Amino acid sequence: MQVALIGIPWDENSSFMRGAAEAPPLIRAALASESANLWSETGIDFGATPIFDAGDVEPVSGAAMMSRIAESVGALLDQNYRPIALGGDHAITYPVVKAFAKKYPRLSLLHFDAHPDIYDEFQGNRYSHACPFARIMEEGLVERLVQVGIRTATGHQREQIERFGVEVVEMKDFRDDLRLEFDTPVYVSFDIDGLDPAFAPGVSHREPGGLSTRQALNVIHRLKADVVGADVVEFNPRMDSTGVTAMACAKLLKEIAAKTLLAQGA
Ligand code: MN
Ligand code: MN
Repeated sequence: MQVALIGIPWDENSSFMRGAAEAPPLIRAALASESANLWSETGIDFGATPIFDAGDVEPVSGAAMMSRIAESVGALLDQNYRPIALGGDHAITYPVVKAFAKKYPRLSLLHFDAHPDIYDEFQGNRYSHACPFARIMEEGLVERLVQVGIRTATGHQREQIERFGVEVVEMKDFRDDLRLEFDTPVYVSFDIDGLDPAFAPGVSHREPGGLSTRQALNVIHRLKADVVGADVVEFNPRMDSTGVTAMACAKLLKEIAAKTLLAQGA
């Protein structure tokens, strides 16, 4: 079993600010930085078990890009990789999960974010980065959607959460002993704005009151599930003057990648 990285430099569905498309090479550079090593905290050495880099999906506009993303991720799944997509904004998660749902008919989603991203439409765009989880749930692509870190739910989004039976761990109710368990394969979608902007300022939507990097890592480490793939999205290098957000993305990526290689519940 091997992890494959795939960059998706695409941010045309961002509602507020561009820049997330510039993230993939910076996350790769942070992962390779000699300021750190390639061991996960859980004892996986990505020096000895390298992560395959599938390169970037060449961006085009609109629906054609959605198909291109799903096809590229599907090709990695066909080769039995555990793909991790580097966004890009959160709109990429819908086509990525489409590809995963084909391979894993009993898929569940663990979603870290400040935002539920479950608007029926946003600014007239049904494929906005504020909408991917509405599309995923409408199509029944996953059995369970569990959201962690949420602190911006509107009335409409609360209705959508109810309608689709989403399980939400709102940030106001977050407890340090959170331990999540799934009996299906799990895809982890990590919007880096789920972290507090003190830890990850390099995002388009800085929402105070979020997770520390440590809290997020602990939820991932304690997760009892077979993690089959992931994305790290919404890193905006234009907002990351110190480079700390790139390192946070690389750290999360490394620990999630290790999780995909560890036995279930380890
Ligand atoms: Mn998001
Ligand atoms: Mn967000």
